[in-house]
Amino acid sequence: MSTKLLIKHAKTLSALLGKSGEAEVIIDVRIRDGRISEIGQALASQDGEHCIDATGLFLSPGLFDPQVHFREPGMEYKEDIASGSRAAVKGGFTAVVSMPNTSPVADHPDVITFMVNRARDTALCKVYPTGALSKGLAGEIVTDFAALRAAGAVAITDDGKGVQRDAIFYQAMQQAKLADLVILDHSEDETRSNHGAIHAGKVSQQYGIRGIGADSESVHVARGCQMSEATGARYHVLHVSTKASIDIIRAAKQAGVRVTVEVSPHHLLLCDEDIPEKADGTLDANWKMNPPLRSRADMLACQQALLDGTIDAIATDHAPHSPAEKALPIEQAPFGIIGLETAFPLMYSHFVRSGKLSLGACIELMSRNAGQIFNIECGRILDGSAADLVLFDLETPFAITPDFFASRSQNSPFVGHTLYGKTCYTFSDGNLVYQA
Ligand SMILES: [Zn+2]
Repeated sequence: MSTKLLIKHAKTLSALLGKSGEAEVIIDVRIRDGRISEIGQALASQDGEHCIDATGLFLSPGLFDPQVHFREPGMEYKEDIASGSRAAVKGGFTAVVSMPNTSPVADHPDVITFMVNRARDTALCKVYPTGALSKGLAGEIVTDFAALRAAGAVAITDDGKGVQRDAIFYQAMQQAKLADLVILDHSEDETRSNHGAIHAGKVSQQYGIRGIGADSESVHVARGCQMSEATGARYHVLHVSTKASIDIIRAAKQAGVRVTVEVSPHHLLLCDEDIPEKADGTLDANWKMNPPLRSRADMLACQQALLDGTIDAIATDHAPHSPAEKALPIEQAPFGIIGLETAFPLMYSHFVRSGKLSLGACIELMSRNAGQIFNIECGRILDGSAADLVLFDLETPFAITPDFFASRSQNSPFVGHTLYGKTCYTFSDGNLVYQA
């Protein structure tokens, strides 16, 4: 920890300094009292300053994750705000938006206040809570959005569950417009998701597992776009997973609807055919999440949407569960995988290093654009701005092993992968909060 820092010889992109173009530049950055105080070349070190030689490393603004589950209060054996934040900064994230499906549910300002205080006292990064859309996530009684906002909620969502009743969702959109809060939609029509465990398709049929229909997502996405248009409320689609949803969102954007959308690395890189069999011939629940890994065509549509600019942000949907829970048969195991520590390496290795997406665009999707969903400024390295920064090694491959994770849980389908984009240092408000 140091409030007097000098980062020397870091490589970055001129666009991330607020200038035009994507040219690579080598810079020094001085940090004082949590903020960037000077950016230049060949800055001389000063008395009492801790100097970090960043030669060969890439300096990025701290990443911003629009969707994580930190499980506190109530399920701290999976994760808590402190351990979740350790995973975040190890993955290069300096800000995350946490979902309200805790125990108790964050449907009351007191729960939001508890989370804000816990984050202030224990977190290594910024943790922005969201308020539940309905009491107890039951989808029946809309909460008091203005009160949740006053306590610190940055958005409203029933994530973990879809809002089943159209009238409730419409009422929420109207109230969100008045409170100037964005609605984050876990789009799931339960009559079509059918209590399924994996995507309804060839694999679910082959194994005789109840399947989650692709249209369970897209019918809610269509509803949300229509209601956004009708009310003027901002509407954000969480973890999009199907081609049909993407087609609806693309058309709505073209029509001027205030809709944004995020995708998760696992929906870009995996499909239902990739779920491996365990030794006993059943499917491995570490590949189970909601929405599920979809068909190959859906995965390719997510990739296309990423590359054509339809996607606004990358979200991990970091959802920790204990080994015992994930060892259950896939029908009974809980939904969700962790993602904070693999998100940037996956995006960098599979899209940037392979030449499909520019590094600048990747960082934008994982910082500035993600923050904009919540009207939170981030994603630039500017004189005077908060020193939320990360230094990545983009050249040295590293392996994702079970003991790699700082998260309290290890439920990741990417264990065993070798990736590029390792975090070397993370700074949050000028403090060194992670060092490899
Ligand atoms: Zn969700």
